[in-house]
Amino acid sequence: MFSGSPPVHLMWSSMYNPEKQKLKRRVDWRRLGELFRPYIWQEIQLTVCIVATSLLGLLPPLLTLSIIDKAIPKNDFNLLLLDVGLMLASALISGLIGVYQGYLSSFVGESIIRDLHTRLVTHLHHMPLSFFAATKTGEIMNRVSNDVEAVDSVVTMTIVAILTNVFIIITTLFAIFALDVRLAALSLVLIPLMVVPLWPVGRRMYDARKRTRAKRDEMHSATQETLSVSGIVLVKSFVKEELERSRFFKLANELMKLEVNVAMVGRWFLMAITFMITAGPAAIWLIGGWLAIKHGVTVGVLVSFVALLGRLYTPVSSLAGVQVQIVSALAVFERIFDYLDMSEEQDALNATELKQTEGAVKFQDVTFIYPETKRGVRNLSFQVNPGQMVAIVGPSGAGKSTVAQLLPRLFDPDSGYISIDQNDIKSLTRASVRNHIGIVMQETYLFHDTILANLKYAKEDASEEEVIQACKAANIHDFISSLPEGYKTIVGERGHKLSGGERQRLAIARVLLKDPKILILDEATSSLDTENEAAIQAALEPLMQGRSTLVVAHRLSTIMNADCIYVIEDGSIIEQGN
Ligand code: ADP
Repeated sequence: MFSGSPPVHLMWSSMYNPEKQKLKRRVDWRRLGELFRPYIWQEIQLTVCIVATSLLGLLPPLLTLSIIDKAIPKNDFNLLLLDVGLMLASALISGLIGVYQGYLSSFVGESIIRDLHTRLVTHLHHMPLSFFAATKTGEIMNRVSNDVEAVDSVVTMTIVAILTNVFIIITTLFAIFALDVRLAALSLVLIPLMVVPLWPVGRRMYDARKRTRAKRDEMHSATQETLSVSGIVLVKSFVKEELERSRFFKLANELMKLEVNVAMVGRWFLMAITFMITAGPAAIWLIGGWLAIKHGVTVGVLVSFVALLGRLYTPVSSLAGVQVQIVSALAVFERIFDYLDMSEEQDALNATELKQTEGAVKFQDVTFIYPETKRGVRNLSFQVNPGQMVAIVGPSGAGKSTVAQLLPRLFDPDSGYISIDQNDIKSLTRASVRNHIGIVMQETYLFHDTILANLKYAKEDASEEEVIQACKAANIHDFISSLPEGYKTIVGERGHKLSGGERQRLAIARVLLKDPKILILDEATSSLDTENEAAIQAALEPLMQGRSTLVVAHRLSTIMNADCIYVIEDGSIIEQGN
């Protein structure tokens, strides 16, 4: 079998480098539309509300007409009362509808944001390890949280803005043509003056925002790196606070300039449009006034016409504005879609589940080279029989950790194959392979949570008894019990409140709870003092019982009990024995 994983490792870094990435120019409306599809029922209700409020909005100007041209000249106080009463009623009803409309629109918008967020995070969980090695954590965080938030307002406001404005325009057009065809035609002539100037603004805004978001990625990576526990220790120990301050200020300053640029894009055009919104009615006053003097257009028609004109021009200019917003928001959407488009770890089409296993592991002529460094492992062949312990030793950089990562398919070999019980692991689903493998890494990762929660990550339904048993076997129960809060102790960010040895024994207890058939110990005892090493050695013994174990270490003392030892150097086996 020789399919090999695609050499994606290099791809990530170059593909998502904003400088290199060509700015895409096509608006993928269908993709945006798909986000709205699940909420069609709410969107229909929203449309009904909007139609109703835009119809109700026509009433006040028409009632004004009735007051000026009918009620007052005819001294009809009852009609005046009716008109004013209707005015109040229409305002009240459309206000009430507005409340429900507000609920619907934020429900739809926030639901879409929730879906997008969840899709993005889930997708990232399924991305291969190589992606995370090549991408800065800060950049990932920026896309997951800030980018999604940045499109929030567009998503929540867009449909409402579009629908509202379209319906207001349609109803107003009917009303003004009914009032006076000549004035209505004149008002339409002015519309292109408000829309055309905005066309180029969207594109410019798009470019500006793309650059701004990329700068934000940089800034988040910088903060994320220096503000982590290990990062801050590095900064403090080298007394680099001043350097970091100036580095940060430089980035923040560049971002500030870009943001000012975004804010200023299209400001001149907007000014022109605002001017038109005021100037339009002036033109109508002029022509309409002339019509009133010469051709008997009534004052009521003229006043209500100008009142209606606001209902025409404001929505036209907001629609143009919405277009600008959407096009520029697309710069952010594309960043999210870029992530969603990256391929996840894919199991083979006909992949099967590894249900049970004896724990027989075999590496046959396995070659895997990291594209960036051209280093890795070459033509490795060895096997671990069920229940055996096999050790891989060798100097640092020899490729031991790579071996440990190939078995759980964090990477797939370029050539050769790895099998578990005679099944090539590429023909098995990744999840089922990983379910049978327990790993104790050089660096134990713990979540910022209680000891108990960290342990139960391996087995959610573990009973208290099971947890304690595992901890006793891992030689850590006494230590946990001695803590004031016992198993409820919060371990701190990445578990930094515990010592390296304690973290590792917790990791061993965690794997014991998982109870896998195959075990990988990656330099589990390399960085410890003798006392801790003895404690861990004692913890490891029950762990290895009845399991096939692959130990990866650079010290011979830790692997004395191994059934077979392979020495590797520069990615190849140079010696074997026991
Ligand atoms: P060991 O565990 O024996 O110290 P590794 O398996 O970690 O060695 O690394 C083997 C070689 O592969 C090293 O030369 C290292 O520089 C390189 N390497 C390890 N991880 C990566 C990676 N994610 N990308 C590129 N090169 C890597």
